[in-house]
Amino acid sequence: MSMSEKKSSEVAPPTGDMPAEEFRRFGHEIVDWIANYFERIEDLPVLAQVEPGELKAQLPASPPEKGEPMEAILADVDRLIVPALTHWSHPSFFAYFATSTSAPGIFGELLSAGFDVKSMLWRTSPASTELEEVVLDWLRQMMGLDAGFSGIIYDTASVSSMHAIAAAREGVEMRIREEGMSGRADLPLLRVYASEQAHSSIDKGIITLGLGQRALRKIPTDSEFRMNAKALAEAIEEDKRNGALPFCVVATVGTTSTSSVDPVPAIVRICEQHAMWLHVDAAYAGPAAIVPEMRHILAGCDRADSLVLNPHKWLFTPFDLSVLYCRQMDLLRRAFSLVPEYLRTPEQDQVRSGSDYGVQLGRRFRALKLWMIIRYFGHEGLAERIREHCRLAKLFASWVAESPDWEIMAPVPFALVCFRACPKAGETEEVKAKRLDALNEAIMHGVNATGEAFLSHTKLNDKIALRLSIGNIRTTERHIRRVWELLNEQLTNLSAR
Ligand code: PLP
Repeated sequence: MSMSEKKSSEVAPPTGDMPAEEFRRFGHEIVDWIANYFERIEDLPVLAQVEPGELKAQLPASPPEKGEPMEAILADVDRLIVPALTHWSHPSFFAYFATSTSAPGIFGELLSAGFDVKSMLWRTSPASTELEEVVLDWLRQMMGLDAGFSGIIYDTASVSSMHAIAAAREGVEMRIREEGMSGRADLPLLRVYASEQAHSSIDKGIITLGLGQRALRKIPTDSEFRMNAKALAEAIEEDKRNGALPFCVVATVGTTSTSSVDPVPAIVRICEQHAMWLHVDAAYAGPAAIVPEMRHILAGCDRADSLVLNPHKWLFTPFDLSVLYCRQMDLLRRAFSLVPEYLRTPEQDQVRSGSDYGVQLGRRFRALKLWMIIRYFGHEGLAERIREHCRLAKLFASWVAESPDWEIMAPVPFALVCFRACPKAGETEEVKAKRLDALNEAIMHGVNATGEAFLSHTKLNDKIALRLSIGNIRTTERHIRRVWELLNEQLTNLSAR
């Protein structure tokens, strides 16, 4: 070996990426691995059966000094990571809002990671920018939403709603972007309204925007967990009399606890009367509007100012992808656009740049996976899957309703069933309430501990209710029948004690 050769091999660390051959080999292996994972997923416990800290204890506290072979890394995925996963892709995942990825969505993610574009300006990602506009227009058409809406993709509904409220605030013309809100005697209390069933992301958006939690007034709901529009109108009138400035209402189509639908047509009229922004949180239920006979769920939404829906909840899109539709993109732009010299481009006045519409500069190429999903399944295929989920939920709800030991706790407009066990026993109402709460929690934990299914709960009218949400692309009637058996087994075992 010559001196120069020796020197370079001793001094220079290896550079460059994994060799193409190795990438190809492991790429195929990983796709095989995922295909096998989906085939064997029902053998895995849905809810991770690990204790807190168990994974951390098995991982080295410091990073490896030298690179390791992919074989070793993948072996650790099997040995360490998989046992610590809660399997959201399991067909018996019924907790929270059940969701699922899909093969075309996974391919979209993979390609997007390969391209690794930062979709901030049109020129940094013409494909991402233009595909996003086209695919969101397709989705808008599939939902039967008015053509006056333009869409933009964010990561989550929490972030979409925060941006919608920011646009609404920009619309009050109080120079908040320029001067902020603190130390200003000229600003009244800016009020936002949402029902007491609204998702906590609305509270978080308000906190993030510096409006303060007191800015959010929670409106009571009716017996079916829908916002009471009359109470909303009264609250706005009262706030106005007291010198506050009501500027935004958030209505929910598909609330988190029960999937109830606020009366948007009545709410929209109130917003129009007071020149207030109406934002619709349809994060969960919005995708159901692509089913032609369910379009009515968005009644009134055409007159809203903005609407969020999450394809990552119920459109078989791998997390994350949330869509905000907005009528006044100029206000969103006014709230967030900031173009320093280094981002100025010759075409900026003719094109749309994603970073003008939000807090992020770089944005992932998320439109690609949604485009692939819509093309692969088609409008019909997607609608058929959502329709089937709703059928399964109604079937399950019918078993609950017919059983003397169980009861339905809320209407079932989509694919979420809220229910509880209520076996009879001679006792006072107070004792009964406590007994049933404890019994239902025990049933849920019992079912979840089997690893065969995973449910979650909520509280409705101060009573524990179990939630069975159907949203996974692999869920069939067999899985619904099995979880019903498991629930009844738990009830029998617990009642026998
Ligand atoms: N809005 C509703 C009605 C929800 O149910 C949820 C989550 O379940 C969210 C917003 C928040 O969604 P994300 O996790 O995308 O922020």
